[in-house]
Amino acid sequence: MNGPVEPFKIKMVEHVKIPSEKRRKEAIRNAGFNTFLLYSDDVFIDLLTDSGTTAMSDNQWAGMMLGDEAYAGSKSFYNFEKAIQDVLGYKYVVPTHQGRGAEHLMYGHLTNPGQIVPRNMYFTTSKAHVELAGGTMLDVIIDDAHDPENENPFKGNLDFKKLQNLIDKYGPEKIAFVNVELNVNMSGGQPVSMKNLRELKEFCDKYKLKIIFDATRSSENAYFIREREKGYENTPIIDILREMMSYSDGCIYSAKKDCLVNMGGFLATHNKDIFEYTRGMVVLFEGLHTYGGMAGRDMEAVARGLREGAEYEYLKYRINQVRYLGELLMKAGVSIVKPIGSHGVFIDALKFLPHLPRDQWPAQTLSAAIYEDSAVRTMERGAVSKGRDKETGENIFPKLELVRLTIPRRVYTNTHMEYTAESIIRLYKKRDSITGLKMVFEPKHLRFFQARFEQLSL
Ligand SMILES: *Cc1c(COP(=O)(O)O)cnc(C)c1O
Repeated sequence: MNGPVEPFKIKMVEHVKIPSEKRRKEAIRNAGFNTFLLYSDDVFIDLLTDSGTTAMSDNQWAGMMLGDEAYAGSKSFYNFEKAIQDVLGYKYVVPTHQGRGAEHLMYGHLTNPGQIVPRNMYFTTSKAHVELAGGTMLDVIIDDAHDPENENPFKGNLDFKKLQNLIDKYGPEKIAFVNVELNVNMSGGQPVSMKNLRELKEFCDKYKLKIIFDATRSSENAYFIREREKGYENTPIIDILREMMSYSDGCIYSAKKDCLVNMGGFLATHNKDIFEYTRGMVVLFEGLHTYGGMAGRDMEAVARGLREGAEYEYLKYRINQVRYLGELLMKAGVSIVKPIGSHGVFIDALKFLPHLPRDQWPAQTLSAAIYEDSAVRTMERGAVSKGRDKETGENIFPKLELVRLTIPRRVYTNTHMEYTAESIIRLYKKRDSITGLKMVFEPKHLRFFQARFEQLSL
């Protein structure tokens, strides 16, 4: 058998087509070699993101029809709240329209100007919201995470020495809170171990520091704990999740990932003060505290999706489909981030295109080339995403210069994975002929969304 067997059957299909070679050439040029600016109609397989691109189940669609659209006190909100309490174990829940709405409220509340937010590794919108509140986000992830070849099974772990150094340097009162991303997106979908979370809690208690999780991919993290950490081999995923969350004061959550929906988010907490403040503020920015920017039907779908997304059989298929794609590429000699993460395969663009200097944006270049070859859409996760240094204004060139192939949940078959791998392997064989890019338009904030490029000649 090639690839893991799907624990579902297909009830509805959406037709997709491969645009002609001429159209692909035209489309990527019109998009300024930025895959964010392509029309999705020009895309055959869309691996831009796993965010909001999930196929919902019949059970979730049935829930949509039952959505209670009451302005206040919606029944769907109480189902949503109950699912979060059951699966994650938090007492208090505030709904938001998506993850960044929760970041805005939570990080904005806990960060004072001039404060530091240590985090295992930055995420774009998380960093932006901490900065909006006047804080600075600093990475405290273990060094292994910056080495794509390192096979540490828990590459998302925090380095307590780095955290201690920040506390010594700035003083504990300057630390707004410690932020932990579960299954670190930017390092390739790498998990944090239960041991690391348990020790972090002990560490932070000494300094009375709050711990806030970015729990967006916590179910996938829980699967890795079950697969890799001694003592959890037979533990139900929900029990693992509840133990993980018990080491935090609260979390933000983009429901567009592990909750298997197209839109939604929330924050949740064990802490009454955080709850009361954010429940007050949600009304200003998102909507009343019993809908927070979501329709009743959306909350119903999240409630069901959070439970489905924490089922072991589903997670096993999910993680192994991603692994299947990664292994096809590795077998052909393409360097990818190891171990293969949960939500996508990350190609090391510096190894793929070693002849390109960093300021010719190797990952952006490769991502555009893949589209032109096969109409598969991927994303740059490297220097373009990282942006410029706040103080010096210089480009930051992070160690990881990656092309991300993010796999939507329950959407593509294993044959789609094979088609994608074949295109990348074809390019790998003629990689010397791929030329770099020049950035010709650069927006000030989150530049990767809108930046435009031109192709340099040989
Ligand atoms: C997607 C994501 C967010 C932001 O959530 P949105 O729903 O896109 O606003 C925050 N953190 C992580 C780790 C994410 O992957």
